[in-house]
Amino acid sequence: MLSGLEAAGVEADVTLFSSDRYFDFDPPDHPGSMDLARFYAGLYADIKAQAVNYPPRKTFFGDPVPCYSVGDEARFFQIDMFGGQTNIWGGTALPLTEAEFEGWPITRKELEPHYQAIADRIGIAGRRDRLSEFLRLDYSDRPPVKQLKGFEFLERHLNQRAEAGGYHLHAGVPPNAVDTRSDSPNGCIQCGECMAGCVRDSIYSARSTLRRAIAAGTVDFVGQNVTSIRSRESRPEVRCENGDTRSFDRVFLCAGCVATTEILMRSLEMRTGPILQDNCIYQFPIVNLSEHSDPRKEEYFGLTNLLLLMEPKLPELSLVQIQFYPNVDYLWRTLFPRWCWGLLRHPVRWLRDRTIWARAYTDAGDSYRYSMRLDDDRLVFSEAATPDATNVVRWRGSLRQALRGSKCYVFPFQPVLAHTSAHLAGSFPYGGGPVTVARDGEVMPSVHIADSSCFPKSPVIAPTMTIMANARRTLLEALGR
Ligand SMILES: Cc1cc2nc3c(=O)[nH]c(=O)nc-3n(C[C@H](O)[C@H](O)[C@H](O)COP(=O)(O)OP(=O)(O)OC[C@H]3O[C@@H](n4cnc5c(N)ncnc54)[C@H](O)[C@@H]3O)c2cc1C
Ligand code: SF4
Repeated sequence: MLSGLEAAGVEADVTLFSSDRYFDFDPPDHPGSMDLARFYAGLYADIKAQAVNYPPRKTFFGDPVPCYSVGDEARFFQIDMFGGQTNIWGGTALPLTEAEFEGWPITRKELEPHYQAIADRIGIAGRRDRLSEFLRLDYSDRPPVKQLKGFEFLERHLNQRAEAGGYHLHAGVPPNAVDTRSDSPNGCIQCGECMAGCVRDSIYSARSTLRRAIAAGTVDFVGQNVTSIRSRESRPEVRCENGDTRSFDRVFLCAGCVATTEILMRSLEMRTGPILQDNCIYQFPIVNLSEHSDPRKEEYFGLTNLLLLMEPKLPELSLVQIQFYPNVDYLWRTLFPRWCWGLLRHPVRWLRDRTIWARAYTDAGDSYRYSMRLDDDRLVFSEAATPDATNVVRWRGSLRQALRGSKCYVFPFQPVLAHTSAHLAGSFPYGGGPVTVARDGEVMPSVHIADSSCFPKSPVIAPTMTIMANARRTLLEALGR
């Protein structure tokens, strides 16, 4: 939104409403002046003490992130943090393919300048490879994240294969919103602890951008959540949790799919109607028995080292995104007692690129869907559809076929279905839904949706770059620019 405002060149008083939780938070930073080993030992103790599941859900430096429940089961995150989920995200920053824009009133070509503007703003680590060629992107202005040798080999192998079963294969280092510049104060030091929390603040977070804008006086900040919006004298009036109200010329809703839906349901006096989509993620290990493995595994990037897009050749199949993670310490340090770590650290390190963890994101057609209703002003979710997993057999079979001859193996077990993809979308879709949402996101007079609530479906490809680019476009179109 800030990037859009700058591009619009309008003089405007801008007010941001959001929780102020973690507003002042800064990661411990300063390598050399802090003992990383001791810091992470303490952090793992905190994470383990709080964990109720294995592997533990993402925390914010040891603080659990609350979840919405469906029935008795905690399912997806309830975000109440200054800077939102970018405080805990993985930083993979991709544009959607042209095909993923099906159902949108906007094409990839129209969004292209906005993708570029966002990339310039947040900084993208990446390189030219078969993946970037397929995605037609050239945004990278930073060196790619470090890829362990086992992943380099897998990338070469998959790209040499080029196709398997019903899919074309496009593998590469994922473009990532990570500061990889060696001369930057936030430069990644390849400590591999990204899942626990980055001490360097190397992974882009909206918290820093917003804080800078507030400090510079560009944005006025109100540390309150919004409950609803009413039209009063033809202007939107925002009501906060503490009952305060304020009127504006325009309001842009970027509270994340669930919270935006909740605000709209109250504002439109809608007790029920919106359906939320949450794509499936299937998780499984790949064992690398090839001769390709990194001799120096102390330094590594602890998130996606390799990304594969499986492009369907047949109309009945859909795109699959597979992210390949190293065998990170996080998985083991949160499982075993603290005293074991001295013994375990060496075998875990040796397995770093020998046990590769795959996370496959599939199409919204095979996803969880939740109907939402307001019960005494409390959001209640019920399952409207559950995944039928029909396509899992097809893409897994094709992946196994692709891996033939590589000495990398997928076990013939069912992959584990994650509780959530954290890529929620589609509750107030463009075109048809509970109400009409215009191309500029207008859903009530002068109130515009500027997050994934208005996506026609939850994309297979990681959505955040598109949320940011589309928010920028929404603002410019709403202002007639
Ligand atoms: C563990 C994890 C890893 C992820 N990894 C990736 C990845 O690698 N790549 C990718 O593309 N995506 C990833 N995602 C998804 C990504 O984080 C989200 O798509 C993105 O952050 C959504 O942005 P948003 O601004 O719409 O919502 P949010 O990031 O949820 O931000 C919403 C903001 O609104 C505030 N808010 C909430 N309610 C109200 C209210 N009533 N009034 C005012 N303010 C309110 C919140 O406090 C928050 O600050 C990941 C998510 C998680 C949880
Ligand atoms: S490896 Fe991860 S945690 Fe370590 S500095 Fe880099 S981004 Fe941060």
